[in-house]
Amino acid sequence: MTGHISDADAYRDDRAHVFHSWSAQRALDPVVVTGGLGSTFWDAAGTRYLDFSSQLVNLNLGHQHPRVVAAIQEQAALLCTVAPSFANPARSEAARLIAEVAPGDLSHVFFTNGGTEANEHAVKMARLTTGRHKILAAYRSYHGATTGSITLTGDPRRWANEPAMPGVVRFFGPYPYRSSFHADSPEQETQRALQHLEEVFMFEGPGTIAAVVLETVVGTNGILVPPPGYLAGVRELCDRHGALLICDEVMSGFGRCGEWFAVDRWGVVPDLITFAKGVNSGYVPLGGVVLGDKVYDTFAERPFPGGLTYSGHPLACAAAVATIEVMRDERIPERVKDLGERVVAPRLEKLRDRHPSVGEVRGLGLFWAIELVRDRDTREMLVPYNASGAAAKPMADVVAACKARGVWPFTHFNRLHVVPPLVVTEEELLQGIDAIDDALDAADAHVA
Ligand code: PLP
Repeated sequence: MTGHISDADAYRDDRAHVFHSWSAQRALDPVVVTGGLGSTFWDAAGTRYLDFSSQLVNLNLGHQHPRVVAAIQEQAALLCTVAPSFANPARSEAARLIAEVAPGDLSHVFFTNGGTEANEHAVKMARLTTGRHKILAAYRSYHGATTGSITLTGDPRRWANEPAMPGVVRFFGPYPYRSSFHADSPEQETQRALQHLEEVFMFEGPGTIAAVVLETVVGTNGILVPPPGYLAGVRELCDRHGALLICDEVMSGFGRCGEWFAVDRWGVVPDLITFAKGVNSGYVPLGGVVLGDKVYDTFAERPFPGGLTYSGHPLACAAAVATIEVMRDERIPERVKDLGERVVAPRLEKLRDRHPSVGEVRGLGLFWAIELVRDRDTREMLVPYNASGAAAKPMADVVAACKARGVWPFTHFNRLHVVPPLVVTEEELLQGIDAIDDALDAADAHVA
């Protein structure tokens, strides 16, 4: 039994009444998840999965962390909700803790319910601060599903949502393995990607550009780690042209990259950071924008024209306070950095050597991609861009092989991402990578 109905009824009612995200409804066959602990969850039949996707790369502290569960319970017993206009201890403390771990002068927090609303509000803040309207956003990005954020998004999820928000202009970011700039080294990739962005500024009119928005480390679209000098170069371009820099750290923030925020790795301070997911491991929906003095001052005397009924919801904020305290006490960012360098990197490199279907492995912290190809020389993708149905079969085979070995994988197009909870034990990490190693035989079978 789960809650008030049987597991069989949960399945039946889901199929009858739950309308799912991003899916053709009739084809769905969802697993009924009945429990989870740490990095493992299980279904109604008792089948256990090691969660190598952290659900949607949000479950940073794993399932049912006792300190986070207790914080939510205590807050629920005290005060479940209060309007955003009031001050509330959970909200105040969450904001202070986020400000303490954020870089530079980023010390004010506007709370939202998730990542997409954070990006919507960051864009609004940038436009009103600069008095300009254009936003430069990258191809190979995901920023959320509401009108503005889906327009910022540089992947096929945008296509069916167009036309949407006016004023978004797209550029290519760095991706050395599939360089849009025909670069043959990371240094050249940085230099050419910056030159390209500079040209976009020039042709769009620098005086019209309110902000550049990018994922510090691109998440779903490939775990694209910026090559040395790129982020600093974008910061400099923004400063030179009077545009703001918005770093979307919804996926990359809160320890995922082995830092509190991924920008810390490169010492770059954006004007705005958007966050969600890992801020409280997704136990209760929460996101937000961290802003520095420049944006804050714009709204110091003049009202900010935005708000949400649940901005800074006490249950979500209590979960954030507990999450950040656990991360501090257990030194989670340091742990993640160490695991990434000492365990994941060498293991994935070995796996690349063993499997002809592996074109590249890349990442940092507990944020890694295994890029699968049909041919290592031509780098032809194992499945075509945005493939579905029969064309996507090779990836479906890999997913099925992972699940058969008890690992729940995260895949996107021709990539398998290694994104377990940040509390994953070393033993689980090795066990999961070994299962992926076996499962990749299914991809090798499709190599030309
Ligand atoms: N930005 C990034 C980088 C994301 O990965 C996501 C979600 O995956 C979002 C924004 C949207 O967040 P949400 O689904 O909480 O609205």
